[in-house]
Amino acid sequence: MNTFNVKAYGTPSKDEDLNEMKIERREVTPTDIEIEILYCGVCHSDLHTARNDWGGTKYPSVPGHEIVGRITKVGSEVTKFKVGDLAGVGCLVDSCKECESCKQDLEQYCSNGSTGTYNGADKHLQGHTFGGYSEKIVVTESFCLKIPENLDLKAVAPLLCAGITTWSPLKHWNVKEGSKVAVVGLGGLGHMAIKLAKGLGAEVTLFSRSPDKIQDALDLGADSVVISTYENEMETVKGKFDLIIDTVPYDHDINPYVGTLNISGTLVLVGYIGKMEEPLFTPPMVLGRRSVAGSLIGGIKETQEMLDFCGEHNILPEIEMINIQDINNAYERMLKSDVKYRFVIDMQSLKK
Ligand code: NAP
Ligand code: ZN
Repeated sequence: MNTFNVKAYGTPSKDEDLNEMKIERREVTPTDIEIEILYCGVCHSDLHTARNDWGGTKYPSVPGHEIVGRITKVGSEVTKFKVGDLAGVGCLVDSCKECESCKQDLEQYCSNGSTGTYNGADKHLQGHTFGGYSEKIVVTESFCLKIPENLDLKAVAPLLCAGITTWSPLKHWNVKEGSKVAVVGLGGLGHMAIKLAKGLGAEVTLFSRSPDKIQDALDLGADSVVISTYENEMETVKGKFDLIIDTVPYDHDINPYVGTLNISGTLVLVGYIGKMEEPLFTPPMVLGRRSVAGSLIGGIKETQEMLDFCGEHNILPEIEMINIQDINNAYERMLKSDVKYRFVIDMQSLKK
């Protein structure tokens, strides 16, 4: 297979900073498109992967799965896109397309293993996939998204992960006008969850550890904020919510939140992956048919629906632009919850 080299930013091991490197991309196959990456969002998963928080990171690691750019080449059988169009790529670049999940447009749950945009097993080249902290990416067209023309392009990037990851559970659990939704954690995912839930007509509460984020949350559209460390505030929302989206990236006690679910309500984890130290207290679940669930990004069809919804309702994240050379500092700030509310890399900076 023919390949070419592009500049990228990645890390050779879990303990080293990200730095400039060269990676290989394949020449387009008949069904591929080649995208010049203009902007790439910075997800907490990028940090988890670069630092091997989940185990299993393959090095060198080039993160980035909130990708928008302009198409520079298309394969001979490509029908949805042409050179010069804008396109987006999220967390997935391929799946088997044959299993029950894929047939139901749930490629993220592909039984044969979907291919992550980074750290996935590359089906074309040997080794693993490299993400969006790079000049160009080549992706099969069925995993590329159309970008609504009216939206500010650099702010669209975070929709490709933070947007779809919060949209998918909102839709799956049927959030609509009047639903009572709570969001735990005001970061990249959390602030999109507030905006999208409001867009669907829900009444939205934020749970945060950070009193200094109260005004921001209200400005973002939240109807109320509960500081999760204040027990008296937690009491006031007992039994209230139909759905809670928990975006906290690290182990935390979820029992206090389960108690704030309404009868038949669901708390859906999208942040932490791993063992919980605090055991789940089952009486509120059994006595009130409450559920604790999880959710992973969203399928390609659903991602397009989310993008189109954001286009119609003009919903975009709050972003802070950075140069790629600032990425290590951005990770440190993300660990301190010091980001309002998503970093987006201007990929022109990689040309410097
Ligand atoms: P982020 O921007 O860093 O936001 C996380 C927020 O959680 C923080 O702003 C903070 O909000 C709260 N928080 C952080 N550390 C905490 C702790 N130790 N205890 C309690 N609260 C804490 O991260 P993100 O990019 O939104 O990602 C959130 C998580 O979702 C990450 O673990 C990421 O890997 C994961 N993720 C999952 C999927 C999926 O498909 N399921 C997709 C994308 C990302 P407050 O200051 O308001 O408390
Ligand atoms: Zn992500």
